[in-house]
Amino acid sequence: MSIAAASRGEQGPHPRLGSQGAESSQSTHAGQLPVRRLPGQLERLNEQIANGLTERHGIQVYGFGRPGVDTGTVRDIVRAADDMLAKYPHARVISVEIGDVEGDIARAFEDRLPNTGLIGTRIAFSEKYATDPELLSNDVSKAVQRGHFAPRAEGPAYGTIVHEFGHALTFEGRSAAVERADSHLLEHYHRTYGHGNPGGDLTESYENWRGQLSGYSFWKGGDFHPTEALAEAFADVELNPARASEPAQVLHKMLVDTAESKWRKEGLL
Ligand SMILES: [Zn+2]
Repeated sequence: MSIAAASRGEQGPHPRLGSQGAESSQSTHAGQLPVRRLPGQLERLNEQIANGLTERHGIQVYGFGRPGVDTGTVRDIVRAADDMLAKYPHARVISVEIGDVEGDIARAFEDRLPNTGLIGTRIAFSEKYATDPELLSNDVSKAVQRGHFAPRAEGPAYGTIVHEFGHALTFEGRSAAVERADSHLLEHYHRTYGHGNPGGDLTESYENWRGQLSGYSFWKGGDFHPTEALAEAFADVELNPARASEPAQVLHKMLVDTAESKWRKEGLL
């Protein structure tokens, strides 16, 4: 994986090269590049597409003009961010960027908004995957096939951004949602399935039921991973509204309710 990405990075036309340099680097791949483009043309197109997020939602975008970034992937990232911000406009997303995300396809992390003291979320999409749509598609498909990720109906970059957006919502109500995730699932399970077995041990059947969540919702040893479970449940329901598992629907609802109660307290709703 890393070898393919590294060699691809070296082959991409460098924007600082003069036209001669760019041409000679293209000529070595003449068979793969039937369309001759001016140097920097695709980079500018990708930046333009990403700038739409700033125009429509006021969020910052970085790194979309990096050389070799796939335009289809940029369109999917922007479309997912558009859809999520239209549906959850109060989610405090500061930026979406393409950058160095070691060992992951994307990552969400909290940061302080300049001059406000407010905390928001930055979403970073891996440059390695943004420049290699085949690797992105293969790795995400494999992860879905082995149950590690919830199914991503809308394509790999779109589904990845929706998952990261789930983290952004988690951060909105962080303490409540993450701490309550497992007990909330257990309460729902007891309420829904516990009647025929008063006082009985439901541990095993509960764990089987909870095990419908994607594999990424659990640590390697099998322990519940509330932060990833919430993001995965969010993605599962947003991407597959009719087919998402019951525990995913329970977590999705709790996550959205928690975020909304915070927005209500802030006078946003
Ligand atoms: Zn995650």
